[in-house]
Amino acid sequence: MNTNLIITNGRLVDGTTDKQLDIGIADGRVIELAEPGELTIKGEQIDADGAYVMPGLVDIQVHFRTPGGEESEDIQSGAQGAALGGVTACVMMPNTVPTIDNVAIVEAVKALSLSAPCDLRSSAAITINREGERLVNFKELYEAGVRVFTDDGWVVDSEELMRQAFIGIRDFPDAVLSQHAEESEMVEGGVINEGVVSRRLGLKGRPREAEAVIVKRDIDLARQTDGRYHVLHMSTLMALEHVIAAKFEGLRVTAEVTPQHLVLTEDDVERLGTSGKMNPPLRLLEDVEALRVGLIRGHVDAVATDHAPHHPELKGTSMATAAPGMLGVETMASVIWSEFVETGLMSPTDFVRRLSVNPAKIAGITDHGKQVQIGAVANLAVFDPSQSWTVRGEDLVSKSRNTPWEGRSFAGRIRHTVLAGSPVVINSCLVS
Ligand SMILES: [Zn+2]
Repeated sequence: MNTNLIITNGRLVDGTTDKQLDIGIADGRVIELAEPGELTIKGEQIDADGAYVMPGLVDIQVHFRTPGGEESEDIQSGAQGAALGGVTACVMMPNTVPTIDNVAIVEAVKALSLSAPCDLRSSAAITINREGERLVNFKELYEAGVRVFTDDGWVVDSEELMRQAFIGIRDFPDAVLSQHAEESEMVEGGVINEGVVSRRLGLKGRPREAEAVIVKRDIDLARQTDGRYHVLHMSTLMALEHVIAAKFEGLRVTAEVTPQHLVLTEDDVERLGTSGKMNPPLRLLEDVEALRVGLIRGHVDAVATDHAPHHPELKGTSMATAAPGMLGVETMASVIWSEFVETGLMSPTDFVRRLSVNPAKIAGITDHGKQVQIGAVANLAVFDPSQSWTVRGEDLVSKSRNTPWEGRSFAGRIRHTVLAGSPVVINSCLVS
């Protein structure tokens, strides 16, 4: 049961406000905001001294591997990592076994999510079984609560099918097509970025152009159909240029970038081994620099992790055969704060916009990423910028260990997370 909760001595930063305020919470909602020490309601106290209180972070691209991949992650372990990372809402990708492409599976996953320490939303595939041949029933899935449609892991190759998909979601104002933008034939058999490192290691590469080709095509379709389009885990300067042009044109186009694509390059792949393999792959320094500027300026709307756990057996093989993907949901806040806010490149307000406000808007998630005002559902994260953290894969709550940040130290860490008025993380530990 919810008891009253008070969050004291923190600096409230919600994308609009930025000031010292104490927060009173009852029945899952914010009922009082007051100068420090001035709250009239009493309740369990959460200390935010020296920390920022913000709307809970929203990660719109995670793979929690349910159903079918529970040896790598499940809804509970994934949601626990999210909570520890200050994430109060996630969008789970549909590339499960079976594929999330119909209402029955959406409902089954939803039922498993009810007791999780994070608000979990299911996306659904664009095509049945992500085979790129027949469209899903958008209307039924939308009515079941799905807002994000994607064949993530794979691209929708067919231009005509993608056009029909845009038309198919047109009646649903907050539905969006999210694309894993890599043209299939160009990346067929590719392992890492096509470039000097792939040539040195004798591995087939995935060219950067494969991303730009799809992003450009899809933006053209979005223009023709007045559709809503989102680029998943954008990784190249060229794709960013298309997105910027689309935004200037007023098209409804958004893009996210992962923490790893904002920090690491193809030069890190050998050091990281199979933990450095993901799709799209780590790119060039010029891509990283462009994406960083894009994030700072707001041309990149959001950070999302593409949290992709893989059981050690799936990663412990050769570079060519290892499964692609990296952990991310537990470490996102610390990586981005450390790289952008601690260094003075981004304000705490913009941090909240990119990691909470914007992703919630993109994925049509209500009650998260909202201004912290009277009546709002209390989905909150408390971030302590003075806490340093050296990441160890074995300490992460995920069932898998494939973090690209092993041994790396970050400035700042989530101290508390509150989900609908109930603490789920206190002092960087899960509430049992
Ligand atoms: Zn993907």
